[in-house]
Amino acid sequence: MKRITHYIDGKSYTGASERTGDVYNPASGVVVAQVDFASAQVVDEAVRSAKRAFLEWRVSTLAKRTQTLFAFREILNSRKEELAHAITEEHGKVFSDAIGEVTRGLEVVEFACGIPHLLKGGYSESASTGIDVYSIRQPLGVCAIISPFNFPAMVPMWFFPIAIAAGNSVIIKPSEKDPSPANLLAHYWKEAGLPDGVFNVLHGDKVAVDSLLEHPEISSLSFVGSTPIAQYIYEKGTKSGKRVQALGGAKNHMLILPDADLDLAADAAVNAGFGSAGERCMAISVLVAVEPVADRLITKIEDRMAKLRTGDGSTDVDMGPLVTAVHRDKVAAYIEAGVKEGATLVVDGRNPAVSGGEAGFWLGPTLFDHVTPEMTIYQDEIFGPVLSVIRVKSYDEGLALINSHKYGNGTAIFTHDGGAARRFQNEVQVGMIGINVPIPVPTAYYSFGGWKNSLFGDTHAHGTEGVHFFTRGKVVTSRWLDPSHGGINLGFPQNR
Ligand code: NAD
Repeated sequence: MKRITHYIDGKSYTGASERTGDVYNPASGVVVAQVDFASAQVVDEAVRSAKRAFLEWRVSTLAKRTQTLFAFREILNSRKEELAHAITEEHGKVFSDAIGEVTRGLEVVEFACGIPHLLKGGYSESASTGIDVYSIRQPLGVCAIISPFNFPAMVPMWFFPIAIAAGNSVIIKPSEKDPSPANLLAHYWKEAGLPDGVFNVLHGDKVAVDSLLEHPEISSLSFVGSTPIAQYIYEKGTKSGKRVQALGGAKNHMLILPDADLDLAADAAVNAGFGSAGERCMAISVLVAVEPVADRLITKIEDRMAKLRTGDGSTDVDMGPLVTAVHRDKVAAYIEAGVKEGATLVVDGRNPAVSGGEAGFWLGPTLFDHVTPEMTIYQDEIFGPVLSVIRVKSYDEGLALINSHKYGNGTAIFTHDGGAARRFQNEVQVGMIGINVPIPVPTAYYSFGGWKNSLFGDTHAHGTEGVHFFTRGKVVTSRWLDPSHGGINLGFPQNR
């Protein structure tokens, strides 16, 4: 059986592990590897190595850091397929989608290659007589990144390229469900010439996460995952004095106005609802149809759903399995709950026809109509291939619905009316908005993050907010000696 273990101080961990977890290929339902779970002692070993490495890396020149990042970018680009295969094998998403994930992560690496420009401070000459004032930004120390199963390469890459470029060392704790991509990334860094200990991978569960949360030498925590855990990380991390950004769950609405191009909207709904089997934090899970469009829209969506092929993501299919049997059963239970609560099940994805292993974690695309706001399938994040249609009478009713939901990650509006779209971008209480774009994931030089229960902390991921998160500001007020500036003055410093 393949063993997946930690990567500390530039090498794979050689010690034994008291606890391990099974890693499945979700398309076959077969265990393909066992992953070590880090104990508090192993976490401490990784943190100490990362701290040592930080003290040297933080004083490395911007030229050296940029060269290392460029080298990493080239290696990552040339190994995209290797990484995507590892993602498909353990996550289940189709290969082309896994390539897309790596490509979006690569964009953040490219953004971080511009770190000399991003770290430039301000300089004010002669702020007062003979006095110059300038600002600098410095790295934090050892930064922990705790990531979810649904983007095992891209989500860590939202953070670590910028953290490393800014002079920090990092420890990644990837999801125990698909742990291999993080180790591949560690090997790419080694090949790129990153000093040992700057990039570390710890595998594990709550024990590893809690040890990171409590460790005094961890300076910051970047978490992405479900809302209850995000809230826990934020509260516990900030209480122990760490800088924390914790991105949580989502329930993304797509508002379809009566003047929308319904073919474009139906394509978008199917792509954003069922891509990656709905296991995306930016997946569309609720269609808010402003009447009279619902009947026509649903017919178009049904036509498209009938053509979707579900199966092993390493073959030519549209949608792969869910990540685990437990998760598949949880999503199936939501379908059952929707039926019980009175929603109309238009397409039932339970017992789908699939091309893949019999024991795979299958669930086909599912569509509900006549969903109402109090139903659990509307309130909860399902995180599976289940799309709900809510019918509303007006733009205002649709907007009020979206704004009253507890999540505020992403949303989209489909319309030909520029004025309505502009009003929507201004009025909607959501962090990322698409206008005729269903999955509005910001490019690397903007920042990614939601509002309300979709993000705890005030800093979003990557872009300039990412640079800000991984650095601390200092302002220097300086005067170079000139005898004419001497003399006693007990007053508060003022500019003269
Ligand atoms: P999860 O919350 O179960 O796990 C996330 C991480 O937390 C993993 O590394 C896991 O090992 C760890 N963890 C799990 N239970 C823990 C506990 N009790 N204590 C401490 N750590 C714990 O999430 P998941 O199922 O891996 O991922 C899916 C979730 O992530 C969805 O809710 C999705 O919306 C969210 N997500 C959000 C974004 C975003 O940008 N907002 C992006 C991707 C995924």
